[in-house]
Amino acid sequence: MRTIRQWQASTVLNRTARGQNFGFHYSLNPYRGCSHGCRYCYARESHAYLGLNIREDFERKLFAKQNLAQRLSAELTRIGHDGVIAIGTVTDPYQPLEGSQRLTRMAIELLGQSGLVFTITTKSPLVERDLDLLAPLGQRRQVAIQVSVISLDRNLIKRLEPGAPPPRRRLETVRRLSQANIPVGVFVAPIIPGLGDSPDDLDALFSAIHAVGADWVMTSTTRLAPALREYFFDEIHPFDPKAALQMRRLYGPRQYVDFTYRRQLSRLLDRLYRRYSLSRTPPILRPHITKEQLSFF
Ligand code: SF4
Repeated sequence: MRTIRQWQASTVLNRTARGQNFGFHYSLNPYRGCSHGCRYCYARESHAYLGLNIREDFERKLFAKQNLAQRLSAELTRIGHDGVIAIGTVTDPYQPLEGSQRLTRMAIELLGQSGLVFTITTKSPLVERDLDLLAPLGQRRQVAIQVSVISLDRNLIKRLEPGAPPPRRRLETVRRLSQANIPVGVFVAPIIPGLGDSPDDLDALFSAIHAVGADWVMTSTTRLAPALREYFFDEIHPFDPKAALQMRRLYGPRQYVDFTYRRQLSRLLDRLYRRYSLSRTPPILRPHITKEQLSFF
């Protein structure tokens, strides 16, 4: 059974660690826990800090930052005009809970008014509900959206991302965002050895991404953090023991996959970027600071 607890956050904008360059300066996550339940999700680890487990608790014991609007209004006054904010770095801001709680929508309203640049990462078509807010911000290049799709194989996705919407539906969202002139990219991340990483699978995925008009594609391989490692293998082994064994071999005791695998994958991806004329980088975004918006700071 799913439970939702209202949470009073002491802060909602978290600064990225010094020296880390992810293309943003602050992260914003309206929720803790995520009912999309992706087996590879590195954010599972963070549920342990709440005294909960990284397995079903992460998917079922969810927290909503009830005071998000008040905290965000206050914290926005303390960051510079050139700060970039990423929504959805550790939990999906459009997971089903957003349908009733509408915290992400509130954040978009405030960020839109502030004029600051921000990005949103999601797997959910629920983002389309907020097209009325996002389209004008996208048209003036204040916001970019990234939709995650790691495979077109619906059965595989049901195993790996059991609570997330089907991949073709997510690509339809990419099409709709693109048609609204919002910068939209696709995260093919993580690529998992043995599961949807064949040349044919990735070719089909890149072809579909090209067809829906994505502006860029970002890729990365799975990182197996120590706390996630055994949980992940426990989940993969029952439905694909061969892939689980292959992964154990390719990762060894490390968090990152073997260098030879990475090099071969990188060559394959280079070919696919060229074949489908896809960019690796999003368009440049710009803050939209008017005199009225200066009152925010
Ligand atoms: S949608 Fe994102 S945050 Fe949610 S479980 Fe999947 S990877 Fe984790």
